[in-house]
Amino acid sequence: MSGGGSNGTGGAERPIYGTNSRDMLQEKILKEYPRLGPDDRFTFACHPGVSCYNKCCGDVNIFLMPYDVLRMKKRLGMASGDFLEKYVLLPVQKDMKTPVVMLRMNDDEAKSCPFLAPGGCGIYSDRPWPCRMYPLGLAAQKDTPDGWRGERFYFLLQEDVCKGFGEAKEWTVREWLDNQGIDEYDEWGEAFKELTLHKFFEDGGILSPQKMHMFYTACYDVDAFRRFVFESTLFKRYEVDEDFIDEMRYSEEALLRFAFLWLRFSLFGEKTVKAKEGVLEAYKGTLDKKKIFGAQKTGDPEEEKQ
Ligand code: SF4
Ligand code: SF4
Repeated sequence: MSGGGSNGTGGAERPIYGTNSRDMLQEKILKEYPRLGPDDRFTFACHPGVSCYNKCCGDVNIFLMPYDVLRMKKRLGMASGDFLEKYVLLPVQKDMKTPVVMLRMNDDEAKSCPFLAPGGCGIYSDRPWPCRMYPLGLAAQKDTPDGWRGERFYFLLQEDVCKGFGEAKEWTVREWLDNQGIDEYDEWGEAFKELTLHKFFEDGGILSPQKMHMFYTACYDVDAFRRFVFESTLFKRYEVDEDFIDEMRYSEEALLRFAFLWLRFSLFGEKTVKAKEGVLEAYKGTLDKKKIFGAQKTGDPEEEKQ
């Protein structure tokens, strides 16, 4: 935690209730905040010597992406279902297209982060993306033709409580991102955005409650998704590379990669997973499903609808 790493709450937001307030903040950032590129510089340091040390890890909204959850549950050695039950909130927001997952703060006066320890962040090397990014935020023009994948820029989240800006250590944006190990998180973040910003939603598509649940399970509940994958007839029905299947047996990252492919296929009809010969005919009713798959339940919500 010490040594220039951020104890902070990154791209996280101070609590802002209501979509209007959030929209207003986004508008303010887009209009007023100086935009930083990779070579722009800022001064900042976070270490136990700053008077505000540990004060920023509470009363804050930290939105989690699937890779954040994966890293934290692994770090804590917890089953994903237990992690989600204990550490996650699922706020219901107006016009929500995919599930929103937030870190649940403690129910104490300071609403402190459950991972805050006396010496700093108790899960420092596995802290989520927003905590790594701070004091940088990332924004994009929503109205670009390809949505959030349009012009993106960094900006400084200069919060009054944070004395780190008074420190002499100078960084470029790129140096900060490298120092915080952001690239790995960003790669997963980009793959996740392929789902959350899918054209399906732009075209007005809405996920049914059943599909919302599939989305949540595949993205966040890796142990449940493993059961779905290995305890169903999925690999009998779809062509998945044998090496990839083996990798999924021991690698949660591989399972998450497959989860993203599976969702693009099952929710949006992309050709990211290929059905085996005969399977489509079976589902069209021209072949006997039982003959192909046996009587085993697939666990696949899509099949159960047939
Ligand atoms: S995860 Fe760590 S850095 Fe992030 S808010 Fe919690 S204690 Fe702070
Ligand atoms: S407020 Fe700023 S300097 Fe203080 S602990 Fe948090 S990130 Fe570090």
